[in-house]
Amino acid sequence: MKVAVIGAGWAGAAAAYYLNLHHHNVTVYEAARMPGGRARRVESTPFGYPTDNGQHILLGAYRETLTLMLDLGINLDEAFHRIDLCITSANREYHLQAWPLPAPLHLAGGLVGCRGFGINDRYRLIKLTQQLSRKKWQVEKTRLF
Ligand SMILES: Cc1cc2nc3c(=O)[nH]c(=O)nc-3n(C[C@H](O)[C@H](O)[C@H](O)COP(=O)(O)OP(=O)(O)OC[C@H]3O[C@@H](n4cnc5c(N)ncnc54)[C@H](O)[C@@H]3O)c2cc1C
Repeated sequence: MKVAVIGAGWAGAAAAYYLNLHHHNVTVYEAARMPGGRARRVESTPFGYPTDNGQHILLGAYRETLTLMLDLGINLDEAFHRIDLCITSANREYHLQAWPLPAPLHLAGGLVGCRGFGINDRYRLIKLTQQLSRKKWQVEKTRLF
């Protein structure tokens, strides 16, 4: 099948890659001078060196993005500077940092040491997590192929 993909950002490039893998005849149309879309590399900057425009933070939950990178042969250990999940409000009143333990202990530890959450909030959060786990709740799969 002949397929036209409009845009060579993450979405278009990923679609083109998998379509090509499944033997479709793909043409990518990109309006900008370079591919990458919002996550493109900007060559000419006031700093005098190239800068990555977007996509600096990837969460472990970005499963499809990570799968794509693995499919492309990218070594994730080399490509990423991995840090534990940490959420801090701008005024630093709320702070939740996952502990370097296997799941789900990483979040249990984080809840013990978090700042700005009362005992009731922590209890509700644990209860909600347990309920979701009992219901075997999972993020909906959105793979196209
Ligand atoms: C400064 C910045 C920082 C960011 N930081 C993060 C981050 O830390 N973590 C994170 O997850 N996300 C981040 N993002 C968001 C992330 O970069 C985007 O969500 C992602 O790149 C979007 O990809 P996309 O392919 O959906 O769309 P886009 O990247 O917008 O790609 C769309 C492409 O389509 C092209 N196009 C549009 N219309 C046409 C047309 N008619 N014909 C031909 N081509 C067309 C555009 O030129 C573009 O190249 C950041 C974004 C910015 C700008």
